[in-house]
Amino acid sequence: MFLSVRELEIRPLRFEVSYPVGDFVFDQPGRPGGVLQSEPVTVVGTGELESSIGDIRVRGHVKTVLVTECVKCLETAAIHVDSDFDLMYLPEGTEPQGREVEINDKEAEVGFYQGHGLALRGVIEELLMLAVPMRPVCKEDCCGLCPVCGVNRNETECNCQTPVMDARWSGLDALKIK
Ligand SMILES: [Zn+2]
Ligand SMILES: [Zn+2]
Repeated sequence: MFLSVRELEIRPLRFEVSYPVGDFVFDQPGRPGGVLQSEPVTVVGTGELESSIGDIRVRGHVKTVLVTECVKCLETAAIHVDSDFDLMYLPEGTEPQGREVEINDKEAEVGFYQGHGLALRGVIEELLMLAVPMRPVCKEDCCGLCPVCGVNRNETECNCQTPVMDARWSGLDALKIK
């Protein structure tokens, strides 16, 4: 689906698109398993021109389920995406300066497009990438893998002695990025 400025000049464009499973593949550095879709991506929304100089506003709702590896236990972590979006795209080369107030008013996020319009697919791809957390987990309280024997502690209990942190260093725990 392409949101062409010429068409949007006539009227806002309503879209309802579904991208089948496997359509999006996200390669992310440091995540060998990548991020995959386990459900189709459905998108419903509208594209409209917000100004005579070609600002395109894209609003709608995106829904899907993405899967990736849990950073703790390496099992599947599902990411449920079910969210509204409201984005503003300005023609590349134009400066939002002077129009800032207008844009802030609408609380829309701002991007840029090149040429005659905007490919919806690229917009959606970006949204989905942003939906993936830095450290995805299979569940909030995932116990992870045993650092000694490597079993998945969600499934198996082991009797390994995990090294106890020296109390003098415990203050540092608070500084660790979880
Ligand atoms: Zn896990
Ligand atoms: Zn163990």
